[in-house]
Amino acid sequence: MAGQTRAGGESITIHQARWVIPISSPVLTDGAVAVADGRILAVGPAAAVRDQCQTHGGQMICHDHGDGAILPALVNTHVHLEFTALAGTIPPQETLPAWLAKAMAGYASLPPAAIDQGIRHSIAALRRSGTILVGEVSNSGRSLDMLAAGDLAFHYFYECLGFNLLNNGQLAADFPFFARPAVAELPVSAAAHAPYSVAAALFRRIAVWNQTRQRPGCVHLGESPEELVFLQQGTGPFRDLLQDRGRWYEGYTPPACSPAVYLEQLGFWQGPSLAVHGVCLTEADRAILARRGVFLALCPRSNRHTGVGVPDVAALRRAGVRLTLGTDSLASTADFNLFKDIQLLYEYCPEIPLADYLTMATWRGAEALGRHHEFGSLRPGKRAALLFLPVPAPRDLWPGLLDAGVHGQIYWLTPSGKEMLHGA
Ligand SMILES: [Zn+2]
Repeated sequence: MAGQTRAGGESITIHQARWVIPISSPVLTDGAVAVADGRILAVGPAAAVRDQCQTHGGQMICHDHGDGAILPALVNTHVHLEFTALAGTIPPQETLPAWLAKAMAGYASLPPAAIDQGIRHSIAALRRSGTILVGEVSNSGRSLDMLAAGDLAFHYFYECLGFNLLNNGQLAADFPFFARPAVAELPVSAAAHAPYSVAAALFRRIAVWNQTRQRPGCVHLGESPEELVFLQQGTGPFRDLLQDRGRWYEGYTPPACSPAVYLEQLGFWQGPSLAVHGVCLTEADRAILARRGVFLALCPRSNRHTGVGVPDVAALRRAGVRLTLGTDSLASTADFNLFKDIQLLYEYCPEIPLADYLTMATWRGAEALGRHHEFGSLRPGKRAALLFLPVPAPRDLWPGLLDAGVHGQIYWLTPSGKEMLHGA
């Protein structure tokens, strides 16, 4: 049993179940997790955890949750909460440029109060779906105060766009968000939208801002075939979109290479980085992401909705890319339930064990957001963000767990037992 010594006298809650999935160590049968002061105190076989806690003195409360599994709460590395107000308004599209055009038009027509209400709804919905930590991408900064005031942990990626933004000054000169005092105190990074919407000079400024602060960078990468055409030839629907919006730059010379290779040339991967999507990547791209230790957020349900297919998770894994999971926004996916993204990837690639997909949705995500000391696995000292999913006997653990998750049978463990969250 893993444990740590502590002063006695405080109340300890022990959660016991048929299975405990620590993620960072093998699954325990008839395991338990002891919690005190909101932190994990011990993880191990139930009898051993109880024995250890007896020695601490103080009040001890035991909850035996029975048939099911205790696991760490989930990490969703890619959302856009300000798009929640568009939920259900954009049907599946055949191409990403088509989806983007609809999303931009829809967003422009939203009243600010509806955007804010959507953000609040999202924070509650993420918690209901078992999420403790989220990677939020925002173009407006609207969600920062709401996240900072709530109990959902977050890393904030303020997303910069500017295909014709060619100057080299301080980032805050063009994006006043970065001059906010809160930016220094909160987990905030600069993000680049995508290789087809951000100038090379702006990519470098974003990289410098993050790398001098040792904060993770973020970029949508290899999301669609149109991106590859644009980078190779400077043509196609993304050029049309830029011209329509008055953002085209006549002096643009396409790099004539693939997306990750392009950003390697710009030095974007030199600090901690999170790329998002990776549906359309070359072998060279995958090798660069692996070599640079870039995390990649897969959002397969969103990719299907925007008509780009599903990422080649087997090839990414073979290449050694560190994979995490995200849902993307509710403008391109139905909800924030990461178990549904696991289910979709597992259908395409059942050779990867469900345990590995769950690692992507927990520990790997926490690492990508630099919060693995607090979240993502069950280890003494980490925050007690614990879920319980029922798996009725005689079902096997992994298919039963996926089934429960997909159907929203997701409980949070609290000192008073287990609780399913409701309401907006
Ligand atoms: Zn996105």
